[in-house]
Amino acid sequence: MKNSSKKFNGSESLKSTAKEPLKELKSSESPQNDDLIITEVPDSIIKTLESRIDHMCVKKDEGDERGPSCNMASVPGAVTQRSCVYGGARVVLMPITDAIHLVHGPIGCASCTWDIRGSRSSGEELYKKGFSTNLQEKDIVFGGEKKLFDTIIELNGIYNPAAIFVYSTCVVGLIGDDLKSVAREAEEITKCRIIPVQSEGFRSFNKSLGHQLACDAMLDHLIGTGELEKPEKLGLGQKSLASTQEKGPTLNIVGEFNVAGDLWAIQPLIEKMGITVQSAITGDSCVEEIANAHRADLNIVQCQKSSNYLARQMEEKYGIPHLKVNFFGIEDTGKSLLSIADFFQDQYPEIREIAEKIIETEIKKVRSEISHYKTRLTGKRVAVYVGGNKAWSLISAFEELGMKVIMTGTQNGLPEDYHRIMETVSEGTLVVDDANSMELAKLLKKYHPDLIVSGAKEKYMAHKLGIPFCDFNHDRISSFASFNGFINFAKEVDRAVSSPVWKLTSKYYQGIV
Ligand code: SF4
Repeated sequence: MKNSSKKFNGSESLKSTAKEPLKELKSSESPQNDDLIITEVPDSIIKTLESRIDHMCVKKDEGDERGPSCNMASVPGAVTQRSCVYGGARVVLMPITDAIHLVHGPIGCASCTWDIRGSRSSGEELYKKGFSTNLQEKDIVFGGEKKLFDTIIELNGIYNPAAIFVYSTCVVGLIGDDLKSVAREAEEITKCRIIPVQSEGFRSFNKSLGHQLACDAMLDHLIGTGELEKPEKLGLGQKSLASTQEKGPTLNIVGEFNVAGDLWAIQPLIEKMGITVQSAITGDSCVEEIANAHRADLNIVQCQKSSNYLARQMEEKYGIPHLKVNFFGIEDTGKSLLSIADFFQDQYPEIREIAEKIIETEIKKVRSEISHYKTRLTGKRVAVYVGGNKAWSLISAFEELGMKVIMTGTQNGLPEDYHRIMETVSEGTLVVDDANSMELAKLLKKYHPDLIVSGAKEKYMAHKLGIPFCDFNHDRISSFASFNGFINFAKEVDRAVSSPVWKLTSKYYQGIV
């Protein structure tokens, strides 16, 4: 990868090295099927800072696996949409429902991440409350350890939580508060698990480090400490494949955060196969089930961006193998169930047949439910700008609706993420890394997708440009996972794309002004 992290000195101009500009839709043109493939490969995508040019590329041909420059500090002057390391840790741990999540720092760090994921709970609601030590100038000068200790004791007395996660923020790293020793001391007194998370925001430009630090906190302080012989997260009344004498097949669903109830669409399918879900890490979870996660036979990893590390570490430490799965889209959900069945087949030969039957029944139901939407959506063009593995895992989901992804990208992609993206996308697809809102707006105006799929930060920009928008991030309210989720997905995409409201919006986008 070419290093493009050189400093912006103020004299750098907005450059376009265009020789043959990417085929651009005129505002009067309605995208037809012929327009789905961008055939002309450009030297430049849009005008941007010179050091940002390499962060955007177009897949040239089938063998082209060279993605954009990535995993670099954001370019000064270009702004960024990225979150910080602390935010990365918070999103992984926050869905643990019966824990307190205490942010040690000034109030802003806690408020900007409060309820950051739309993770739903079937029981405890403690995780929804926001807690902060609210450090003030005096604490910065004299240290915040006593305030932290007192806060932990007070919170434990009021809420009697199953654990308290204590997150370190930038200023705490700078003043050098010793989180670990405060946590140890408070744990001795409270007998509650006090878990330090060394997630100072400045530790990396990539919040992926925060995901890893959150996993480390679970590995060091939680997983392996439980003493339950039987799986805690017993299913929804489904029978295990095991006889009464056996433990039966068990697995952990890792990297599934139950956004909008996604876990509740995945778990029943696994249980129908006769497998007990030992724990979900971390959607709709409680501390005790994660403490017993080391007892499972298998880890299946849904969000590979945040949780591959945890699965690898558990394999090393506890010998639990892992499978990468994807429960977004009909085909990928089916493939995931079959790969789980294949894993257990030697021990439980009937499991493959059970899985196949489930898949056959569900696919039949979904195809009939989505056919109406597919008719209206076929031929539409999509821009995807999301976090994690959704940048590539959504591509086949859109293909199932007859739609074409013309652009995809992510804020914090690593080389392996872009490698996977380049393998998955078809020729002519635009791939962007760490695009700021100005660049995104230019890309949307220029390439004119029929839909943008992204998160809350891009929502209003899309609306202002008059482009239909679908939230596929933390704030969405419909479950999109598994077979049933795909029906919701098709419905929501159709509702956005086919709404008559877009005829009344942005004249700029329509080329009227
Ligand atoms: S941890 Fe640092 S970068 Fe993150 S929100 Fe707090 S001050 Fe900002």
